[in-house]
Amino acid sequence: MKAVYSEKHRSHDPQFFLVRGQVRHTTEQPERADRLLAGLAAGRHTLVEATEFGPGPRARVHSPDYLSFLAEAWEAWSALGDSGPEMIANMHPVRYPATYPTHIVGRLGWHTVDTSCPIGPGTYAAACAAADTAVTAAELIMQGEDASYALCRPPGHHAYRDMASGFCFLNNSAIAAAHLRQRHERVAILDVDVHHGNGTQGIFYERPDVLTVSIHADPTHFNPFVWGYAHERGAGPGLGANLNLPLALGTGDDGYQLALAEAARTIHAFAPGALVVALGLDASEHDPLAGLAITTEGFRRIGATIARLGLPTVFVQEGGYLSDVLGPNLTAVLVGFEAAR
Ligand code: ZN
Repeated sequence: MKAVYSEKHRSHDPQFFLVRGQVRHTTEQPERADRLLAGLAAGRHTLVEATEFGPGPRARVHSPDYLSFLAEAWEAWSALGDSGPEMIANMHPVRYPATYPTHIVGRLGWHTVDTSCPIGPGTYAAACAAADTAVTAAELIMQGEDASYALCRPPGHHAYRDMASGFCFLNNSAIAAAHLRQRHERVAILDVDVHHGNGTQGIFYERPDVLTVSIHADPTHFNPFVWGYAHERGAGPGLGANLNLPLALGTGDDGYQLALAEAARTIHAFAPGALVVALGLDASEHDPLAGLAITTEGFRRIGATIARLGLPTVFVQEGGYLSDVLGPNLTAVLVGFEAAR
């Protein structure tokens, strides 16, 4: 299948990662894309350069305040004069009746859920390129391709309408789904990242036209802890259009397939015109974040099960961190998908 990519991701090279009170080097590194490119090369997919779509696609999903913040953030931060090499908030207002701040430190707190989304000088450009990568892949299936893949970095599924979170700034999967909505009355998003797709859930929670399904490690014991439970089913007109399938830590291939079968039944009943797969590969048994225990063969089976839904499908890269099987697991998902089509 055609695989969309942009070199512009390299301008985002975050360093800071706070884990249980310890400062570590982030796992969301540019080298991830090199490993994923190797996985695409092994599958002999055709690389396509991302097209620039301008601000329209991201404005369908994100708020004007948030997009302005992202665009202006680095310049305002640098102008402070005594600021660090990356933007990390020292406060996160919980939004009891409050006033949108004008100071960059206040805006940084307002627009970030956690400390895992440090903003550097090249973050905004990379995030926009990742969104364009996802939209280009969505365009490919709107033009008649059966399936496409978007190598997005930074990832997107933890980003809310107006908040960055968990390595994510613009929600690439949501932006792809919103783009597909121009053509299809209903679109489904299936998130197979080891982490709950909380940003995507938040964006579409009250909408009946975009089904969000997430299979992930049980948030009782795993990040993001406060979203991703089975009882979160949507609200208002979106009630019933959100399905969370949390799995016990360490669940392997067979247990995963059971959840995926339930996801597939729900997606089939929703009858969407197209499917976006938020393709995290961090459910791997060898991923450094160690939540689930999916083998490379298990990823092939995941691809095959998704293929049998028979929907035009856009794969959007989410998480998946450095290990020797990161590239092979991408190859396996896409090979499994193509073989079952
Ligand atoms: Zn993840």
